[in-house]
Amino acid sequence: MSYGTVFDIKEFSIYDGDGMRATVFLKGCPLRCKWCHNPEGFDINPEVMVKVANCLHCGKCRTTSCAVLSNSKCIGCGDCVNLCPQNLRSISGKKYSDTELIELLNGYEIFFNNDGGITFSGGEPLLQYEFLSDVLDGVKGKSMIETSAYAKSDVFKKIVNKLSKVYIDFKVFDSNKHIFYTGVDNAIIKTNLRLLQDLGKPFIVRIPLINDVNDDFDNLLNTAKFVKGGNLVGVELLPYNTLAPAKYPMYGKVFTENFSKPEKILTNVFTDNGIPVKVL
Ligand code: SF4
Ligand code: SF4
Repeated sequence: MSYGTVFDIKEFSIYDGDGMRATVFLKGCPLRCKWCHNPEGFDINPEVMVKVANCLHCGKCRTTSCAVLSNSKCIGCGDCVNLCPQNLRSISGKKYSDTELIELLNGYEIFFNNDGGITFSGGEPLLQYEFLSDVLDGVKGKSMIETSAYAKSDVFKKIVNKLSKVYIDFKVFDSNKHIFYTGVDNAIIKTNLRLLQDLGKPFIVRIPLINDVNDDFDNLLNTAKFVKGGNLVGVELLPYNTLAPAKYPMYGKVFTENFSKPEKILTNVFTDNGIPVKVL
């Protein structure tokens, strides 16, 4: 028996893989991409979410047991949730056992026809790899994953072997820039991408495109040359989501960056290298 934390399950996903799918968002991520639009995916533990824009500052949610009053970090106990007369508070993140989540997901019969199934995303789903592995063993349909590939290679290989296809996020080619923008080195990501190619597993590379961060010709050319090979299905480019900062205040976090969408999307860098490319 293993346990994991999920912060969302989206049914009828149309951008997360083949056929009709449900996408399960596992909580917790070792990266801190400066443009991330899912701050609820950072922390592996459940935490309170407050719609602060509508808060009346009445103070009715203050409980003497609240951890925030003593050590400033919410422990997701939920004691304050029902105290708000405006219903502005909720807990993001629900703990499941592997059998509970398998039973829930296998109830989605509609998603298991043809190529459909479940896609596991995050956060970084490989952070909870033992739980993910157990769930994959029991879930029906063709399972896929969306991952940064920031995990030990033996873990990565074990999970990949249970999947029909992999979405791998490849953010920035240059390792120093990668550290600056995500907080981690991309050496292990590159190693795992090579492993994916060697395994012959079909994979799609996703690149979040941000003006003056990674949308330049050199970064895209280095990326195209590196990801080409194995069973690469294609590249998907995701222009920066300008709504990214919206959720931060709800989790007591501050979004300090001023990113923008790319002015020009150089899709030809990929097509010139024989790689099918889509802009989402
Ligand atoms: S869930 Fe509410 S009461 Fe519990 S620690 Fe977090 S803010 Fe405090
Ligand atoms: S009870 Fe609700 S409205 Fe009042 S301070 Fe707390 S979150 Fe704001």
